[in-house]
Amino acid sequence: MSSHPHAFSRYCMHCGQRLTTAVPEGDTKRRMVCLDCGFIHYLNPRPVAGVIPVRESGELLLVRRTIEPRAGTWVFPGGYMDLGETAEEAAIRETLEEAQLEVADLRLVGVFTRTGPGIVVIVYEGRALGEGAPGHETSEVRWFAPGEIPWEELAFDSTEAALRAWANQRGLLGLNDVNRG
Ligand SMILES: [Zn+2]
Repeated sequence: MSSHPHAFSRYCMHCGQRLTTAVPEGDTKRRMVCLDCGFIHYLNPRPVAGVIPVRESGELLLVRRTIEPRAGTWVFPGGYMDLGETAEEAAIRETLEEAQLEVADLRLVGVFTRTGPGIVVIVYEGRALGEGAPGHETSEVRWFAPGEIPWEELAFDSTEAALRAWANQRGLLGLNDVNRG
């Protein structure tokens, strides 16, 4: 998953004046507002798209992150969507970049929210068309049998939630308890 800070400017993107926080008229939340030109700079979550690549044997691929946050942990390939691409296209592109792997037949696993950084993770399962190899921002790719998922070394809560959802959808109930035991 490529890393962008959830950055925002302290200055108005329209007139360059310094922003302040205030509750706009008719609103209920504090926003970044420009008192000079009146523009309201809404801060919204950003969508990330990812793929859990699965191969014929039922194993899934995870990549080891080389970047912060959570460098060294495991995650499925994914990253921020670019303007102009669909969620599916972003998920496929990120899988190529991070795991050098083509995937096909995407199926939505679920949508998971990380409220802290303000990220919405859209997760697909995809049929792997190769073996994969380390790529952009990853040091290692590894195929895991469902029973071998490294639950304690996953990158994010959303990674765990997505893998649990995937396992449950595949009828691998009890898997989590076994691994937790
Ligand atoms: Zn302004």
